[in-house]
Amino acid sequence: MMSEETWHGIPRSKIPWYPTVDYEKCISCGKCVDYCTLGTYEFEEKDGKKRPIVKNPNNCVVLCTGCDGICPAGAIKHPPKKETREIIKNLRKSHVLRPHSKN
Ligand code: SF4
Ligand code: SF4
Repeated sequence: MMSEETWHGIPRSKIPWYPTVDYEKCISCGKCVDYCTLGTYEFEEKDGKKRPIVKNPNNCVVLCTGCDGICPAGAIKHPPKKETREIIKNLRKSHVLRPHSKN
């Protein structure tokens, strides 16, 4: 069992922030796997072909978009920051301002 990671008092798993890969565009160059030193990506072998998968989405640093720009195929995307900030604001209300509530 992994202990629950938090981000500014909010359980990280509740924050929907991580990259997604468009496999229609991805050319399996592996840059994203090398670039993110936090181990968000891993290579997976499927039908004799390698492709990057977002293995540990919660390792992605909240609001980081570093790997979007290094993908030569433009295959990596993150959610819109504005929407994510709204979600975080609402999560803060329930998790940070009432940390001892029993729900
Ligand atoms: S950097 Fe882009 S093209 Fe290269 S493996 Fe990652 S997603 Fe695919
Ligand atoms: S956005 Fe940053 S932290 Fe997230 S997967 Fe890409 S490089 Fe890693």
